[in-house]
Amino acid sequence: MVVEPILKTAASMLKKPTTVEFPDKKEILTDNYRCIQKLDINTCINCGACARICPNQTITMVEAEADTAFKPKGTTKLFPEINIERCLFCVLCEEVCPTNCLVLTKNTEVEAYDRREYIKRPEELE
Ligand code: SF4
Ligand code: SF4
Repeated sequence: MVVEPILKTAASMLKKPTTVEFPDKKEILTDNYRCIQKLDINTCINCGACARICPNQTITMVEAEADTAFKPKGTTKLFPEINIERCLFCVLCEEVCPTNCLVLTKNTEVEAYDRREYIKRPEELE
């Protein structure tokens, strides 16, 4: 009776740890891993398709300053703001984007002291 738990404990001590010493060591991610979005404001056409398709109301179209040939500096347009806390990482927003300016990346660094830090303005997603 007593021997079995002792043997299990000893066996688990011989196993490699399943966690890594973050942030010094990073987890090895698979090719299809996806996390925080990246947005190219210059090629976003402000269509709002990403916000409409999002199944968890993660994306809100908010005003941000544009600075491209088609959107002169000083003018504002609606760009996606993303609440990472609500994101399911389902990739629907990336798939629907007509200009491929919104993509999910392998950036997993989403730690925050304040929940409001999870809400990323368009400029923060660049
Ligand atoms: S990955 Fe899915 S849940 Fe996250 S913002 Fe895009 S559509 Fe919404
Ligand atoms: S990120 Fe893509 S889908 Fe979203 S508003 Fe811009 S162009 Fe449209």
